[in-house]
Amino acid sequence: MCYKHQFYGIESHRCVQMTPTLRCNHRCLFCWRSFEHQVDEEVECPPEMILSAIPRLQKRALSGYKISPEVTEERFTEALTPAHVAISLAGEPTLYSHLPELVTLLKGRGYTTFLVSNGTRPWVLEQCHPYQLYVSLVAPNEATYLRLCRPVENYWSEIQESLSLLGSRRSAIRITLVEGWNDHLPDRYAAMIQNGSPSFVEVKGYMRVGYSRKRLRRENMPEHHHVHAFAGQITKFSDYRIVDENPTSRVVLLRRDT
Ligand code: SF4
Repeated sequence: MCYKHQFYGIESHRCVQMTPTLRCNHRCLFCWRSFEHQVDEEVECPPEMILSAIPRLQKRALSGYKISPEVTEERFTEALTPAHVAISLAGEPTLYSHLPELVTLLKGRGYTTFLVSNGTRPWVLEQCHPYQLYVSLVAPNEATYLRLCRPVENYWSEIQESLSLLGSRRSAIRITLVEGWNDHLPDRYAAMIQNGSPSFVEVKGYMRVGYSRKRLRRENMPEHHHVHAFAGQITKFSDYRIVDENPTSRVVLLRRDT
């Protein structure tokens, strides 16, 4: 189980990791995907096609696990019937032109949906109603944002607008902490969190995987104690408190003090 099981009760083996588009309007240094092999031409699948393909593709993703001594028969059988869909992974989902319909269809089919966005297209997020909406906040100010995320255009004000949508929904702000790049000015993060008023804040250490290994160094991957300490700094400037943490995933969960 991943940390989302510990924090939110999500059964990892029944969770479909999917993206409706491989495109993105950011080029974050910490992203695991390749910008070098960007898909330029893309034909969009209709939402119904994506929905109907999920069971078949989930089964394919599970191939090889059935014979593993680490996987019980019961858990493998459960995994064949996914219950959750995490819409994220390798692209910005709001660039898919049918995202609101896709989220609604998935919900109608009984899936719990997690939508993870970089927050650059608030007008799309406004139309989407997932079980939990994530917006990434990976810089305390505009200058750090431009250096770390290398956006196609400057979307800083759009990100602020997306944060303002969070207070009325089940939502989370995700901070990916990259040591030496964005682990400063906790008071500025705190102010934006306070204004956005999400249900949760995840402060998560950058993991040096995929193509990010070509852009960042091992030293940019913070240890859990550093992630914990930075999350603690944020709590000093806000009324959010540390409520849980998972050292293996180097992630700390904050929630508003009630
Ligand atoms: S916003 Fe997400 S998908 Fe896009 S470059 Fe950044 S980390 Fe990668």
